[in-house]
Amino acid sequence: MKTVISILVTANWLYSTSLAADLSYIGNKTQVSIAGPSPRLSLDDGTTFVGDSISVNAGFQAQEVSDPVNSLAEQRKYEGGSNLNLDTFTEPYTIDFRYHNFDRMTKFLRQATARYPSLTALYSIGKSVQGRDLWVLVVSASPYEHMLGKPDVKYIGNIHGNEAVSRELLLQLIHYLVTNYATDSFVKWLLDNTRIHIMPSMNPDGFEVSKEGSCDGTQGRYNARGFDLNRNFPDYFKQNNRRAQPETEAVKEWVSKIQFVLSGSLHGGALVASYPFDNTPNSLQSYSAPSLTPDDDVFKHLALTYSTNHVKMSRGVSCKTSQTAFRRGITNGAEWYPLTGGMQDFNYVWYGCMEVTLEVSCCKYPPAHELPKYWEDNKASLLKYLAEAHRGVQGFVVDENGNPIEKASLKVKSRDVGFQTTKYGEFWRILLPGVYKLEVYADGYVPREVEFMVVEQHPTLLNVTLHTAKPWQYFDPPVTSPPKTILSVDNTNLPVAQDDQIQFPE
Ligand SMILES: [Zn+2]
Repeated sequence: MKTVISILVTANWLYSTSLAADLSYIGNKTQVSIAGPSPRLSLDDGTTFVGDSISVNAGFQAQEVSDPVNSLAEQRKYEGGSNLNLDTFTEPYTIDFRYHNFDRMTKFLRQATARYPSLTALYSIGKSVQGRDLWVLVVSASPYEHMLGKPDVKYIGNIHGNEAVSRELLLQLIHYLVTNYATDSFVKWLLDNTRIHIMPSMNPDGFEVSKEGSCDGTQGRYNARGFDLNRNFPDYFKQNNRRAQPETEAVKEWVSKIQFVLSGSLHGGALVASYPFDNTPNSLQSYSAPSLTPDDDVFKHLALTYSTNHVKMSRGVSCKTSQTAFRRGITNGAEWYPLTGGMQDFNYVWYGCMEVTLEVSCCKYPPAHELPKYWEDNKASLLKYLAEAHRGVQGFVVDENGNPIEKASLKVKSRDVGFQTTKYGEFWRILLPGVYKLEVYADGYVPREVEFMVVEQHPTLLNVTLHTAKPWQYFDPPVTSPPKTILSVDNTNLPVAQDDQIQFPE
């Protein structure tokens, strides 16, 4: 029987991932390894392919592409029957309400791709300290291809390894999305118009040493080298001297390759949606002082979308008498407590991705029999939050000939956090109803300012044409918050983070 597997291998970042493991599951006999600075494919018969384009017809095809936005790590096609292990197909596709350790989680994710190959794609963005894959499952009507003009969004769970509910909620969410696509019009609309990247565990090593039934404490919170991954990102306000960890390096690489519009980072130990900034320009650690972004209205709205769709979060009841009660179940991050090196500030400041920290359970690692309740509490929130990527303005920046302009710098006037167009010239920005001005700048073009209106009912489509500048014309690039400068420049003038020794509630 002829089986053709076609693979799109992404250069740069996915060559170091465990494509091999995934393929050996599908292909049984075909071993593929991709290694080295120049991506290569090695087949189990010893053939090695290196270079820009790899194409073999002997039952195997591979093509290297350079952009994971356009195509995921792997694209598989089955022709004339497949050699998939079909034995699991005789059983219904279910998910137990119990905790999935790394092996069980991996098995569940592989089952999802086997059972729903047209709705899911599994890839790994790298490995943990102990070598566990950082799995991401895409759920979408177009899992392998970025859909032109449509947003990519993500959920990340279990960045703190002992905050286990987050991990199980995301596995439940995957199951819910794929099994309801055919019958639920909202799920169908969501998957037809969005690519949802779900990483159930960013800290698989920490999870393995965490203890079921442990509501508080820090055992398993950190990665295998003892680092808090949510204090391990570059910081806009303070110098972060902590050594970068493989898990955070992988995430940084990932978000630099795919332009995510919206993101949720799931935690446990509290019941609140906490929005940027997490850190503050004040050099003294001052509690109860908010540190607000120029998009504060949008972030409040996103946080409220989660809390008000949650069964009890918006009641603002504190988990313990000693803990803060949050009005309507939301808070500004720094107002709760400031921290340096958090993931949500990084997403927003560096990539314009709006990320909210979602604290989904008072108990970090409750007994498994309580999981159905947590899923019911969070289900509507998890679904409705993702739909918010379709609010605001979106469009393309093109030149006079209609060609897309990549990496055009954009900002919404008076909201000085910049964002950029994709290689297809696309952009998105979540905004509440109102009238705005978009400032558009690209090297070699005359900058433009375009007024537009956002309404509640649907996103505003806005295409911007830039005209080539005359040779003698020079325009200053827009002044926005960091992106590139702090990443590349030694930030020794910033105050050094002081919060290493403090134990935080979540
Ligand atoms: Zn946490």
